[in-house]
Amino acid sequence: MTSRPKQPVRVRFAPSPTGNLHLGGARTALFNFLFARHHGGVMLLRIEDTDRERSTEAAIAAILDGMRWLDLSWDEGPIFQTSRLDRYRELAEDLVARGHAYRCVCTPLELEEQRKKSQAKGLPPRYDGRCRDRKISADLPHVVRFRNIPDQIVAFDDLIRGPLSFDSGLLDDLVILRTDGMPTYNFAVVVDDADMKISHVIRGDDHINNTPRQIPIFHALGADIPAFAHLPMIYGSDRTKLSKRHGATSVMAYREMGYLPHALANYLVRLGWSHKDQEIFTREELIAHFDLDHVGSSPSVFNPEKLLWLNAHYIKNAPDTVLSPLVSELLPPLVEPLPQSFDPDHRLRIVSLLKGRAKTLLELAEFSLPYLDRTLAIDPHAREKALGPESASILEPLLVSLSSLPDWSADPIKNVFTQIGEALNKKLGELAQPVRVALTGKTVSPGIFDVLLLAGREISLIRIEAALALARTPFSASPSPTGKDLS
Ligand code: GLU
Repeated sequence: MTSRPKQPVRVRFAPSPTGNLHLGGARTALFNFLFARHHGGVMLLRIEDTDRERSTEAAIAAILDGMRWLDLSWDEGPIFQTSRLDRYRELAEDLVARGHAYRCVCTPLELEEQRKKSQAKGLPPRYDGRCRDRKISADLPHVVRFRNIPDQIVAFDDLIRGPLSFDSGLLDDLVILRTDGMPTYNFAVVVDDADMKISHVIRGDDHINNTPRQIPIFHALGADIPAFAHLPMIYGSDRTKLSKRHGATSVMAYREMGYLPHALANYLVRLGWSHKDQEIFTREELIAHFDLDHVGSSPSVFNPEKLLWLNAHYIKNAPDTVLSPLVSELLPPLVEPLPQSFDPDHRLRIVSLLKGRAKTLLELAEFSLPYLDRTLAIDPHAREKALGPESASILEPLLVSLSSLPDWSADPIKNVFTQIGEALNKKLGELAQPVRVALTGKTVSPGIFDVLLLAGREISLIRIEAALALARTPFSASPSPTGKDLS
């Protein structure tokens, strides 16, 4: 549907700062950003903060943090609507002067009566237009209403939904300026989009019913009408609008849960947009391929499993130097830090060994603990499975042979396992499992030789010895089945 835009591309992300940046808002920001970058245009950030009761500084900060974290840059702004109040008032007055708007002094009681009358007639509740021709003085407390022209069809070609038309007779004489001089959303947004020369309005389709209210205001202001693209909703798995019931919805909650920003952005872009059957995109690829013609018009369903899969992919492929500080931030306080835990190279080695298995950075931090902290928590299920009495016959000879190794490196360690495997007639996997649980507290880990090398000689031997003691203690008789401190 879209082709290369003729005019210079100028788009905006225009959040109302009444809460965190949510997944839906982040996707709108991302689509605007990609569209601007793809077309070499301008991305503007506008904070729609005219609802003073609901707008907060904390929400503004959260939105900016979320945008920065997702690596979404903007070229102009943030522009705050509250810094443009004079402009809205000036243009509202201008519309009054030119007959497109009028002052209204109807009281809330009168409006309520009018609403009831329309409802009694089976019509939508609406303003009856009684102040339209009353020439009310600006000195009286008043609102300003836009003069709706009935019997017209307001039509536009939505870049996602296709041609849409609305009967203007169904629209009300919209309040554009409140008694306190604050503009309403539909007015401020049009004044801004006109003044800021926005070429494409890309926003959620919860605004689609506002567009036919806004187009006549553009006309009245003598401004160019931007192109509109309304993005379909994001649903939860039960096909209702995505909300807290479906899990975390704020972008920054995903940061706390150990998601990488580019993984989340990659996930969000595929909620509605596709490029052949490609799933994973670099930022450069997104900019190269993104356009509105491949944004679908049906709602997308949020799939946390797929997001997790993408996150695992991004973690696996991220440079160790990028991951290591992020993992360090997420580590719980170490109980008894190992001396090497302060060595940045040791931390890089840990990340390098473990990143292929972690779905989140939090998981990666948790997997890192056995190599950073002398204290080891043993999963009770792992202990029950792998450190039963029969494992003593494996751990004991391994401990003896490993202790006597002059050199703690891969080949001698492997030889020990081969020899003991042959002597006991056991496969490597059978030998590795109790050692794995001894060293990491878990039944799953990277290859056992890598684990032994990364843990180092001292800690490996201490932990195998402690596990041997556990193996000899009947499970129920153990004072602490969590086997907290084995060292
Ligand atoms: N401020 C509006 C919102 O956060 C968006 C306005 C628009 O994009 O036109 O929903």
